[in-house]
Amino acid sequence: MEVILKNLTKKFPSRDKKKHEDVIAVNDFDFVIPDGKLIGLLGPSGCGKSTTLNLISGLQKPTSGQIFFGDDDVTNLPPENRGIGLVFQNYALYPHLTVRQNITFPLENLKGKDKLTKEQMNEKALEVAKMVQIDELMDRKPGELSGGQQQRVAIARALVKMPRVLLLDEPLSNLDARLRLQTREEIRRIQKETKITTIFVTHDQEEAMSISDMIVVMKEGVVHQIGKPQEVYDKPINLFVAKFLGTPPISVFEGKVRENKLYIGDDAVLDIAGVPNKDVYVGIRPEGFDLKEDGPLCCALRGVEVMGRDSSVIASHSACLNEVIRAIIDTDTAVDAEGDQVRFALAPHKVHLFDKETEARIDFESR
Ligand code: ADP
Ligand code: MG
Repeated sequence: MEVILKNLTKKFPSRDKKKHEDVIAVNDFDFVIPDGKLIGLLGPSGCGKSTTLNLISGLQKPTSGQIFFGDDDVTNLPPENRGIGLVFQNYALYPHLTVRQNITFPLENLKGKDKLTKEQMNEKALEVAKMVQIDELMDRKPGELSGGQQQRVAIARALVKMPRVLLLDEPLSNLDARLRLQTREEIRRIQKETKITTIFVTHDQEEAMSISDMIVVMKEGVVHQIGKPQEVYDKPINLFVAKFLGTPPISVFEGKVRENKLYIGDDAVLDIAGVPNKDVYVGIRPEGFDLKEDGPLCCALRGVEVMGRDSSVIASHSACLNEVIRAIIDTDTAVDAEGDQVRFALAPHKVHLFDKETEARIDFESR
């Protein structure tokens, strides 16, 4: 089911006594979520992710704009008539009901021709329970399950009516690191199996990047960029998106373009073309630093961390806005960890320039 947001806006009255302006939690969202895909809504806390999801589910009413599921205008439909499945961070299971009863709960209220017998309900519950691999736990109560198992029950409950759209709001945030990884792979698998259009909200860029077909990067109620995770990573539209995506983070330097050379401090670090002389921010991805004895970018060496396949070279530079620079190199490359300096050449496609005023990315050609 395609989900179409048309000029969708949600304003809240200010809760700040000194500032009376409305909070625009969702500002003119206008995009299409393609049928059968998993979309990650990504941004820092307070950027309007939950509000967006609540508008799509019908738990909140938009200030203006429309929502369509396919050709169906659902803007004014109550949540129970939209055909959605919802999963929240805190599972929200009924503690006094068994797993089976929790899963069949959404089926109990079906009326008329949709009404199901007890056997039919249990059959459907078992089907989705198998899908999320909790079919052995049907007679337990939520209190007798681990966090990961409880979240699987919540997912099964959201799936049991075969919703048109599945909405997940930070569903992994309460799980420990290992379970989080495992459960996100499960969600991906289930989504691929069922092909239900799924909107997955998270503030964790790595989580969003790893499972989404498409990510929507937002900040303060505004959509900054929409695209495939790798595309957004490789071509961030502005400095905010560049800094928000990637671990370790991109290193940002004060720089300038003079006569087709890019400077960081007094060092000409790259030959480029297509950019007039101006001051810029230079963002360099951790994999964009190549250790080289005669490399043009000279940094102070702070240390080397070896982690399995890769090493991190930790360095600093007076023109760098990050506290430390983290460069990822493969462990075969020897680093003189005793030295106090380290020199890098830069991989041009891992270097991004940003306008100092607008912070928009500036395209350049490397030579
Ligand atoms: P996120 O889920 O990305 O953390 P939210 O959608 O919860 O963000 O919130 C977006 C903004 O809207 C925040 O500034 C938040 O304080 C504000 N907000 C959310 N819900 C309400 C509400 N019911 N009343 C007033 N302000 C709200
Ligand atoms: Mg939220």
